[in-house]
Amino acid sequence: MDVKKEALENRASLISRAYFFAESRHKSQKRASGEPYFNHCLKTSQALADWNLDEKTIAAGLLHDVVEDTGCSLEDIDKNFGPEILSLVDGVTKLGHIKYRGDERQKDNIKKLILASSKDLRVIFVKLADRLHNMQTLKSLPPEKQKRVSLETYEIYSSLAYRLGMQRLAGELEDLAFPYLYPEEYKWLVSNTKTRYAEREKYLKRIKPIVIKELTLANVKPIKVDFRAKRYSSLYKKLLRFDMDIDKIYDLIAFRIIVENVRDCYAALGVVHKLWPPLPGRIKDYIAMPKPNGYRSLHTVVFCVGQKIVEFQIRTLEMHEEAENGVAAHWAYEESKSGAKKRVSFAKSQDISWVERLRAWQEEEADSESFLDALKVDFFKDRIFAITPKGRVVDLPAGATPIDFAYQIHTDLGDQCVGAKVNGRIVPLNHELRSSDIVEIIVHKGKKPSISWLEFVKTSSAVSRIKKALKDKGPLFEPRQTELRVVAANRPDFIKDLTNVVNRNHLNVVNLTTTPAGSGFQSVKIKCDSSDRHKISQLIVKIKSLKDVKEIDYRFV
Ligand code: MN
Repeated sequence: MDVKKEALENRASLISRAYFFAESRHKSQKRASGEPYFNHCLKTSQALADWNLDEKTIAAGLLHDVVEDTGCSLEDIDKNFGPEILSLVDGVTKLGHIKYRGDERQKDNIKKLILASSKDLRVIFVKLADRLHNMQTLKSLPPEKQKRVSLETYEIYSSLAYRLGMQRLAGELEDLAFPYLYPEEYKWLVSNTKTRYAEREKYLKRIKPIVIKELTLANVKPIKVDFRAKRYSSLYKKLLRFDMDIDKIYDLIAFRIIVENVRDCYAALGVVHKLWPPLPGRIKDYIAMPKPNGYRSLHTVVFCVGQKIVEFQIRTLEMHEEAENGVAAHWAYEESKSGAKKRVSFAKSQDISWVERLRAWQEEEADSESFLDALKVDFFKDRIFAITPKGRVVDLPAGATPIDFAYQIHTDLGDQCVGAKVNGRIVPLNHELRSSDIVEIIVHKGKKPSISWLEFVKTSSAVSRIKKALKDKGPLFEPRQTELRVVAANRPDFIKDLTNVVNRNHLNVVNLTTTPAGSGFQSVKIKCDSSDRHKISQLIVKIKSLKDVKEIDYRFV
């Protein structure tokens, strides 16, 4: 679908309304390149249309920057487009606050946050389409920004796209970021591979008719036979493993054969092997054993015409679409054939927990009526991800408060916390944080924590740090000793009996004084080094059973 054409021709449609709304909102704005800002919105929505996503997602693509960049209120979106588009636009706006600056430890948290705050996966699709166009127009930005955005794209968004099975997009994003991150290597690659790519292409054009003829003779109907050039970024990664020797890379350009069904895939493999002998150990059956992100295909490497080494990739059309568009392909598929129950293949990787969750969810939801509903899942029921004003993501348990947040960042920040702002508004310190809240901690230098915090903090690290800070303050807050007053007969060995009882109860006497109490009695004040109620009550029982004890009381000090 051509988004602009649809908007101009079908004025009553949702897409048309979103188109003109966004266009007028962004009217006077320009991109860094000088072109009208709205072009960016149109390109973003066109990518979503190209991935066959639904019209609400396409509309959200048109509207994705109106809140952040034109000051349009969420209420306005709600009023004009309803709650579903509102939540998509709001989700994308929030993701815009996350910034990755190269801290390895932040990587997983950011990916988790993105999934957690995108209860509807369509938010991620819009964000990815937005990022794709931003990368395509990156050259207009200043160099530091180019670097930061490229790194974020390379480390976060490309790998997220890959995990969602959107291989083509993942590759495109990496390729766009690559020249900014590795400018020298990129120049070297381009100058060293240009003629090789051209030669390979010419060679494969000669081979193509042979392949088609032999497939047809074997009764395998090829839907498409073409070749794809390896991307620079993935070629570079591969070269690192092969001593930068391009002659060792066999899939610089690979043949791709698309057939109707799985049986034809194996038949086509047989045809290719009958034509040219395969290289031992290079046949890969990703149909029987899909890659962790769900990729399915047959790969083989053969000694082709003139003893040149050529890679073949064989798959069905469905596998091909899946490999290109991943989750988005499934989503579109389910939408078009509503009611059709279809098992979806997601990432099966075990390396990161969120992929696990994605898989568990997939297994649960595989039979559900609507795949759309399945996309609106709470990925992390017991975790929330809050953000610092600088864009750092903090992983916390559900119900965590600004105090937990502060201690997670730094002990001093927690100790000296006197207030907090969430999304720009002052909140009480026991306020429950939610995913993608932006939290700002207000501190007062030299301030100590309050004992009342212990009643609402959720993380054990906050509890122990608060306790430690309170202890350092001295014995004022927690009683540590007990003073007992015992009135007993004034017999000479009473003090000895008393101290023996104390010692047998594993307590130490810190201080002891006696004063005469008249009529043959004495009052003994004894200080013990514990305030443990249980121990003290046991001690009192023992003292009461001593001979000649008249009265006993105690207090914690
Ligand atoms: Mn944007």
